[in-house]
Amino acid sequence: MKTILIVEDEAEIARFIQQLLEKEGFTCHVSRNGSDAIRYYQQLQPDLVILDVGLPEIDGLEVCTRIRKYGSTKNPYILMLTARGEEIDRVIGLSTGADDYVVKPFGPMELVARVRALFRRSLRQGAPTQSHSTKHFTVDLEQHLAERHLEGKTEVLDLTAIEFDLLATLISHPGRAWSRAQLIDKLWGADFFGDDRVVDTHVARLRKKIELNPTQPLFIKTVTGIGYKFEDAAKEG
Ligand code: CA
Repeated sequence: MKTILIVEDEAEIARFIQQLLEKEGFTCHVSRNGSDAIRYYQQLQPDLVILDVGLPEIDGLEVCTRIRKYGSTKNPYILMLTARGEEIDRVIGLSTGADDYVVKPFGPMELVARVRALFRRSLRQGAPTQSHSTKHFTVDLEQHLAERHLEGKTEVLDLTAIEFDLLATLISHPGRAWSRAQLIDKLWGADFFGDDRVVDTHVARLRKKIELNPTQPLFIKTVTGIGYKFEDAAKEG
């Protein structure tokens, strides 16, 4: 039985999400503001936190950062709820450690599919045993470890679950152009609902972590009219 903490100040939306996910068999608890959420999070140790960005006092991004800082044995998934526009840019811009986000207003199918996709991810972990190496990157699927080798240094990349899967997918076929639809299929599954620009958000966040200059990416290239591809030289030696 998975436990979900819903952090949403609008009572109607909170109730809607709670009823929806309880019908799916999840145990749900609701917090209406950031400080309650942080306190409650520590007692509850949920598997997933659904976190509204626009909260009074401490906003959702700050709550997300604090939850990640506390850490816990469970290390829950964090799904952000964001209003269209400026809030999305902030979710991309800040490395708060959120795993995924859903844009308001969302439909019931969309939210349920995204929650299921996150939990599927944890089931899949440990299944594949391959690793991929290029000149500048190693992605080890068994150890769930991604490294960047640049300027004589090896750095472990701090990636969210989706960022890790995105990098692993792209690096598995260097030079191959992936459409957004193909990446959605790989990363969220065939039951995905919603806007395919969600791919762009995760690509932007991944670029910030792996590129020297995210505005002029060397590794994750945009393929106009299609989507994205990964480029790097083969591993030496
Ligand atoms: Ca709100």
